[in-house]
Amino acid sequence: MNEQQLAHNIANLLERVRLSAEKSQRCADDILLLAVSKTRPEQDIRSAHKCGLREFGESYLQEALDKIEALQDLDLVWHFIGPIQSNKTRPIASNFHWVHSVDRAKIARRLSEQRPPGLPPLQVCLQVNISAEQSKSGVAPEQLPQLAQEVAQLPRLQLRGLMAIPAATQDSLQQRRAFAQLRREFEQLQLQLPGLDTLSMGMSGDMESAIAEGATILRIGSAMFGPRNR
Ligand SMILES: *Cc1c(COP(=O)(O)O)cnc(C)c1O
Repeated sequence: MNEQQLAHNIANLLERVRLSAEKSQRCADDILLLAVSKTRPEQDIRSAHKCGLREFGESYLQEALDKIEALQDLDLVWHFIGPIQSNKTRPIASNFHWVHSVDRAKIARRLSEQRPPGLPPLQVCLQVNISAEQSKSGVAPEQLPQLAQEVAQLPRLQLRGLMAIPAATQDSLQQRRAFAQLRREFEQLQLQLPGLDTLSMGMSGDMESAIAEGATILRIGSAMFGPRNR
């Protein structure tokens, strides 16, 4: 993508974050704009970095590993946000700073065991299948407290919060309802685990609703880099 266009999109997104935060009486600095760079070439990430972005989200493991390798000269923070197969946990544990999509104990245990000793703990969000969610990924809300307790005990993981991908809808009331449900699950868990500080929710089509319901990480792809082909 053209560097000028990208700079324009990023400035625009940061302004939207600022306005929505203000509307909800929140501090815009508490909201991270995570650049979802899946399917995008290395050069787009370099351009986004020039615009001041450091944190990038990827969903496809092999593609992500190639980019992480190619971009080692930059000081980037990598977030894995895609589905996790249990035979792929080792490269995730070794190459990423964050994982947003942990939804079962077996995956969490493997990530903890495989996190290299020289690195800080892997920062983890649990993906929750809130009622509106179409996909099968994500822990059911009924099983969330138990999974959270278990993950919180793992020595090489730091449990930070929750993530969800609600069904896409243009209806902002429906968007708010889904995000409010995730926020309530989050606040419930915070009673047991007061260190939780992260709500990863909101994408290009629903970021304002997510901010209004307390999102601390927005995962933004197409509104930044343009439409995806895949
Ligand atoms: C692709 C993806 C996004 C970004 O979606 P956009 O609608 O392009 O902003 C966010 N979160 C996850 C988990 C994704 O896979």
